[in-house]
Amino acid sequence: MTTAIRTELDADGILLLTIDVPGQSMNVITPEVQADLAAAIERLKTDDAVKGAVLTSGKASGFMAGADLKGMGALFGGGAAPEGKSKMAALFDGVFTLNKLLRDLETCGKPVAAAVNGLALGGGLEFVLACHYRVIADNPKITLGLPEIMVGLFPGAGGTQRLPRLMGIQPALMYLLQGKNMSPQEALGFGVAQAVVPADQIIETAKAWVKANPNGGVQPWDAKSFKMPGGPATALNPAFAQMFVGGNAMTHVNAGDNMNAPRAILSAVYEGVQVPMDTAIRIESKYFAKVVADPQAGNMIRSLFVSKQAAEKGARRPKDVAPAPTKKVAMLGAGLMGAGIAMVSAQAGIEVVLLDTTQEAAEKGKQYTADRLAKKKMAADKAQAILDRIHPTTKYEDLAGCDLVIEAVFETREIKANVTKQTQAVLGPDVIFGSNTSTLPITGLAEAWDKPENFIGIHFFSPVEKMPLVEIIVGKKTGAAAIAKALDYVAQIRKTPIVVNDSRGFYTSRCFGTYVQEGLALLGEGTVPALIENVGKQMGMPVGPLAVNDEVGLDLSYKVGQQTKADLGDAYKPGPAEAVITKMYELGRQGRKNAKGFYVYPDGGKKHLWPELAATVAGGLAADQPSADEVKERLLYRQLVECARCFAEGVLETPQDGDLGAIFGWGFAPFTGGPFSHMDTVGIANVVVTLDRLAQRHGERFAPPQLLRDMAARGDSFYAMAAKKAA
Ligand code: NAD
Repeated sequence: MTTAIRTELDADGILLLTIDVPGQSMNVITPEVQADLAAAIERLKTDDAVKGAVLTSGKASGFMAGADLKGMGALFGGGAAPEGKSKMAALFDGVFTLNKLLRDLETCGKPVAAAVNGLALGGGLEFVLACHYRVIADNPKITLGLPEIMVGLFPGAGGTQRLPRLMGIQPALMYLLQGKNMSPQEALGFGVAQAVVPADQIIETAKAWVKANPNGGVQPWDAKSFKMPGGPATALNPAFAQMFVGGNAMTHVNAGDNMNAPRAILSAVYEGVQVPMDTAIRIESKYFAKVVADPQAGNMIRSLFVSKQAAEKGARRPKDVAPAPTKKVAMLGAGLMGAGIAMVSAQAGIEVVLLDTTQEAAEKGKQYTADRLAKKKMAADKAQAILDRIHPTTKYEDLAGCDLVIEAVFETREIKANVTKQTQAVLGPDVIFGSNTSTLPITGLAEAWDKPENFIGIHFFSPVEKMPLVEIIVGKKTGAAAIAKALDYVAQIRKTPIVVNDSRGFYTSRCFGTYVQEGLALLGEGTVPALIENVGKQMGMPVGPLAVNDEVGLDLSYKVGQQTKADLGDAYKPGPAEAVITKMYELGRQGRKNAKGFYVYPDGGKKHLWPELAATVAGGLAADQPSADEVKERLLYRQLVECARCFAEGVLETPQDGDLGAIFGWGFAPFTGGPFSHMDTVGIANVVVTLDRLAQRHGERFAPPQLLRDMAARGDSFYAMAAKKAA
């Protein structure tokens, strides 16, 4: 077995333990790390020549990033239990191993200090917390934290027990529940670290402490005199009870009761801080096993971590195309989107020629970057260097030398075709051309470029500099070189790509639209508007469907509807949302932009739902109101069935693209891991039953595609199919 922790005994009998996991740029907790640590603990306990230890990292990149999430897959769902053991008992044993190991470290009887050279997150910080003395390199960029909650987990190696005992229950809950990081100075202030010293002195400082404290191998919580910071942890202390009442309420508001981990953290801390550490870590592992046994954490980790990273590393990139990084991009259109795309490109070191119809418009597009950089804390010369990369112009000849084109002019076919041809006259059709259209099929737009294989959709979300997703759209004739170039560019600007095939609304706009439309359908039936909005948020969507539509603009929705009608001709079927949107359009209610939509926006006041809404669009509130569960089911399943159709029609090729696009593109409830993970978890047969029932009551828009029926008959799931295809 390879060594993951190097050992080195110095003349003072101090054992330097250097974690350096082979083949990894950053340390993660592997089975080898655990085995090596167990061996080191044994040596500390039994070898009289060893007086104490210093734990550090051999990686310049930092101390340790925590659990190897990719390697944790086998834990989720529990796997098969060994004979004579329940699944939960087996799971408990699995997750308790590391917890127990760190407890063994802190009770080995000899002083152990941590010398932290860089980031220590999750399990990495838990290693540090189990040491008796903690010294951190003085670098404000170092992050220390327990961010597990972000992927539906919580610290399961003592973190929920040691952090409250170090910093106090209330601040610890803030860090545990929000996954917030702290700087070395903050750690020092909270007693999480005892010293912050220049990076080249961490090991000698740690060693000096070990040498000076031969009896330092006892944690404060193992001493008789221990007092919980911030007051005793007993139900008799009113402040103690209050913290958890508050914590419960906060969790409820933030997670809408959708997430398992926050509840589990609160329980583990509440129960754990009232008992000695040996019992406390068992309590933590019990809750941890429960969280792991539920599919939620596995789904979240798969989408938010594993699939996201794989997508960013080029999972969908054609393998046989040489790397094609962009050096100079031709940005056509300097409006809202063009300006944002210019900004993220320039920030990535790419030269940008920013073209619009007037010099004034092009300059305004550049100003967008200047305004946003001014708000950031950035050195003036760095900001200037970014700005200097953006070259506003109205002249097509200035595009010469660009190796990628991105078009974001008005959403009109003729205008787009016109700028496409003018660009080709300068650059020729061998350059890759990407359109940021939000609705026009790519295959049609590609006709204006002589080599349609070099034409592709590069669909950004607004505001570009904040939204993490880019939807790459492959037209009928788009070739591998265009896909590779687009994905390399997305990697350069550090966003998450998905790759989909051409379709009206592509994937994200098409499926997201159904959430809004179902909200409008409910409204048209006379459902209480606040019920629709609140249920939308409770189910984990960032905003209610009516509020979103106000942001997008009700006039825009009307126009897109009219365009679709014109394009589809006889095939067009009006949906139940159409009457509502038409009515609002006729009334001149455009949404936030003219301060009147489904909401009213009083000057200087808080927006609120328009009191006349139900009376205007539905002739009043319906006497029979749906339950919150019924509203939720419709808002959720209307999205799910559209996602399934995208898969059935080949718009989506992988469930990973579908889940990432939903979470990062339109904020689909992240705790589900995305619509495809959610359908798999519910079970496809159950999804079909629900959809059939909804279709019968509310119409064909809920009818499940044949694909779902076939999958249900086979007992198949989206991810099982994807795994088979990949194998
Ligand atoms: P916008 O109106 O803010 O900007 C369009 C810009 O294109 C304007 O500055 C305009 O002067 C310029 N322009 C128009 N005709 C031109 C021509 N012939 N040559 C050069 N420049 C020309 O619009 P936007 O919101 O930035 O949208 C641009 C494109 O991006 C559209 O296709 C839109 O559908 C798409 N899109 C928009 C969003 C969004 O949220 N706004 C999201 C994704 C995609």
